[in-house]
Amino acid sequence: KQKLLEVRDLQTHFFTEDGVIPSVDGVTFDVHKGETLAIVGESGCGKSVTSLSIMRLVSEPGKIMRGQILFEGKDLTKLSEREMRSIRGNEIAMIFQEPLTSLNPVFTVGDQVAEVLRLHQKLSRKQAKERTIQLLRKVGIPRSDKVYDAYPHELSGGMRQRVMIAMALSCNPKLLIADEPTTALDVTIQAQILRLMRELTEEFHTSIMLITHDLGVVAEMADRVIVMYAGQVVEKTDVFTLFKSPKHPYTQGLLNSTPKIHELKDELESIEGTVPPPSNMPKGCRFHPRCPHATAQCVKHEPALKEVDLGHEVRCWLYEDAEEAVIS
Ligand code: SF4
Ligand code: MG
Repeated sequence: KQKLLEVRDLQTHFFTEDGVIPSVDGVTFDVHKGETLAIVGESGCGKSVTSLSIMRLVSEPGKIMRGQILFEGKDLTKLSEREMRSIRGNEIAMIFQEPLTSLNPVFTVGDQVAEVLRLHQKLSRKQAKERTIQLLRKVGIPRSDKVYDAYPHELSGGMRQRVMIAMALSCNPKLLIADEPTTALDVTIQAQILRLMRELTEEFHTSIMLITHDLGVVAEMADRVIVMYAGQVVEKTDVFTLFKSPKHPYTQGLLNSTPKIHELKDELESIEGTVPPPSNMPKGCRFHPRCPHATAQCVKHEPALKEVDLGHEVRCWLYEDAEEAVIS
């Protein structure tokens, strides 16, 4: 499989009054061409900061400290802000949980989509408007010539998210980063939006990096999955293996606490304990205060991410040889 995006040992810190917070701490993963990679974890695990780092949108007091973000072989961390602007929205597009905050309230939704098209594709005003109406129709918005003239607050949440998808796909990006794209929507609308994303990205051969806390969405959408905990990747595998034989105790906890895949709303809250505050990270394995299998070794030494099966990586002492463990 061809790699579109390669994130290597990414580290993003936040410099706060309470000290340095390593929100993303040595994260490595790939997104292949045409696939959907899901990043799963509780809020505060570093999944959103990972995507903002890729877009180079981490704001003060945050800073990318280390690592490479190779997009088609080009290291995004090395690009100028100007070069980065031509990639953002054009080659890599992003949609967020609440479209109301990413849409400008004083312009009509049609003009906003048309503006993006004009900016990136050098279309005339008239061409951009025609293309926008086509796009709005394509994302399933009825009477799209009327909706063109609507303001964001006049549309439902589901319709706004369709507008955001139209805007994101308007430049035919190679990578779509979707951060909790359906979390704010009710279940029926959520299913429609996910279906739409799948259809469109298949048609346009777009790769998706899907950030979610919802394992139902993962089951529905993902080819491969990485599970993040406290700024690190703890498990990485294909979606079938994740649900059939999860190896990391945290992943097992996520799945066990969910009797049915599509009734999952608050599943991540049901593992005992909470995510450690990043300013006070536990020593050893970061999951040990919540782990039912923790040993003295887990408390003292941090496990590394290791491949335990072909394409299946886990960060846990349970899957390492005792001998190896003693040395580290
Ligand atoms: Fe649990 Fe130890 Fe594995 Fe961490 S390393 S997940 S504490 S068994
Ligand atoms: Mg988030």
